[in-house]
Amino acid sequence: MSQTSNLITGTADIESWKGIFVYVELKDGKPRDASLELLAAAHRLKESLGEEVSAGILGKEVAGFAGMLASYGAERVYVAEHELLEHFTPDAYTSVLSRIILGNKPSIVLYPATPNCRDFASKMAARLKTGLAADCIDLKINEKKQMVQIRPDFGGKDLSEILTKTRPQMVTVRPGSFTKLELDTSRKAKIKKVDVKLKPEDIRIRILDIKQFKVEGADDLVKSEIVASAGMGFGNKDRLQIFEDFAKTIGASMGASRPVVERGWLSRERQVGQSGKTIAPKLYFAIGISGSVQHRVGVENSGFIVAINNDPNAPIFKFCNYGIVGDLFKVLPMLTEELKKVNNKA
Ligand SMILES: Cc1cc2nc3c(=O)[nH]c(=O)nc-3n(C[C@H](O)[C@H](O)[C@H](O)COP(=O)(O)OP(=O)(O)OC[C@H]3O[C@@H](n4cnc5c(N)ncnc54)[C@H](O)[C@@H]3O)c2cc1C
Repeated sequence: MSQTSNLITGTADIESWKGIFVYVELKDGKPRDASLELLAAAHRLKESLGEEVSAGILGKEVAGFAGMLASYGAERVYVAEHELLEHFTPDAYTSVLSRIILGNKPSIVLYPATPNCRDFASKMAARLKTGLAADCIDLKINEKKQMVQIRPDFGGKDLSEILTKTRPQMVTVRPGSFTKLELDTSRKAKIKKVDVKLKPEDIRIRILDIKQFKVEGADDLVKSEIVASAGMGFGNKDRLQIFEDFAKTIGASMGASRPVVERGWLSRERQVGQSGKTIAPKLYFAIGISGSVQHRVGVENSGFIVAINNDPNAPIFKFCNYGIVGDLFKVLPMLTEELKKVNNKA
């Protein structure tokens, strides 16, 4: 179907692959925050590699976003526009993106670990005959200039470091693992329009209709500057009222540890951690949460972590910035009352 399917990537010409490429996924017609975060990740890799940071955006009318991508750190933007790219389909998007990649040979390609990109990136890996490390939470460059792809493994008990033998080195990265760069409109990028050749018969999926469902709390957590999460320390669902009061008082989104979600005390969209959301708010409160490694990987990029726990040996105290050892049923209402006073004065 595609002209690229016979092209083989491999170890033979590793040196000829240069640059860090970010795939920019759209959500509601705009670049997703998770992709903008990857431009920041790309700049971190650039510090060691010194290679260009580029971005690729595909859609029906997306050229207008090139300036925004430059402002968030893209030094070159590939813009692929076509009627048949209006909605994501694995066939069309793989055909177009694989041509961009093979035509420009970046040594690294980053995708956000969103539901569509998990599907898309694995199809891209098969098309490009290269590897894919899924669901990474951190990236770095080693002394051999290879990208080290870091992801939780063995049920979250360990962090694995993955290297790719072939090129490009491709990863999906969990949303929230990196903080996007400050918007700087003085940053400029070279814009490259891509010549898209697509025929309807190349695409096996037809999008007939798109229905949007609003999932309660789904987006809040990843975007929120303040998140407070409840753990098993609350004992049961009925005791969460003081948690909700606290969250409301400080304007925090409510998160939860996995067992809290499994018991149905809070909805699944609120789970933070390895099998939930990865978040990086400016301020994170872990309340009645022990701080297991599976919880930690989802929150450790937070700017400032405050923990409330009655066990001084709880693991959360090893990685929080500020720890209150005490009974949450006493500490939390007191804290809420004091904060209400501050709010009233302001
Ligand atoms: C494959 C896998 C994936 C996982 N994914 C996730 C994930 O995404 N997110 C996640 O959170 N977990 C995840 N887990 C589960 C994880 O291992 C822990 O079991 C879980 O995080 C523990 O939740 P918790 O801290 O709320 O409960 P607990 O470990 O039971 O801790 C409760 C804490 O509350 C404290 N406490 C009790 N009473 C009070 C009180 N009155 N005042 C103050 N403190 C009190 C206790 O001292 C204790 O530290 C995963 C596990 C596996 C195996």
